[in-house]
Amino acid sequence: MDLGICKRCGEFEGCCECGKGEVLIKSEDRKRVSKFLSGLLRHFARDFGITLDEEGWAELNEVLKVLKERYGVGKKYVELIVKFDPKKRFEIRKGRIRARYGHSIEVRTDWSEEGEIPKKLYHATSPKNLSPILKSGLLPMKRLEVHMCSTPSEALEVGRRHSSNPILLEIDAEGLMKKGIKVRKKGKVYTADYVPPEFVRVVNKPSFDRNSPNPAKGY
Ligand SMILES: [Zn+2]
Repeated sequence: MDLGICKRCGEFEGCCECGKGEVLIKSEDRKRVSKFLSGLLRHFARDFGITLDEEGWAELNEVLKVLKERYGVGKKYVELIVKFDPKKRFEIRKGRIRARYGHSIEVRTDWSEEGEIPKKLYHATSPKNLSPILKSGLLPMKRLEVHMCSTPSEALEVGRRHSSNPILLEIDAEGLMKKGIKVRKKGKVYTADYVPPEFVRVVNKPSFDRNSPNPAKGY
């Protein structure tokens, strides 16, 4: 959706209420810039001469400089992208900016926002990952933390990026915390260092192609 500003309605996503607001960011540009910003703050800050501190913070001005050179966009543009990010991936505070989660760059991840952790969380994965997960649990793989969502639909949306037929897993977050494995809240996402297999329950069974050599036995 587009993002914009209206003198009467303020900052808006899609259309403003009075209909007179000015669109500042087109949906396609928004997608492109936020994808780059996410990659920059999670994976390749150094390639652009940006230093992250141990909690992942970068100087906003340095990031703005990179975005200006690359996309010709300014501060208000970036603020709108951060404010309306549907996954709340970013945070701006005191002249600094960071990604809340999803890093492959080594940063400290042991912080959590205020708020209750749901008793059940969800994660979706492609069918080929299911048996390793049931054996060894959920591991962060290329990132620093395991990511979980508070609703099945959010988890499936993430899962569909990796598989057309994702398997939905329910995570016993309450059990994790009782066992002393921290669950952290980061925007809309919940994270943990590791989820042992006994806290993972398969919600939907994988459906295999009829010609598949591995019928869905044993799940
Ligand atoms: Zn308006």
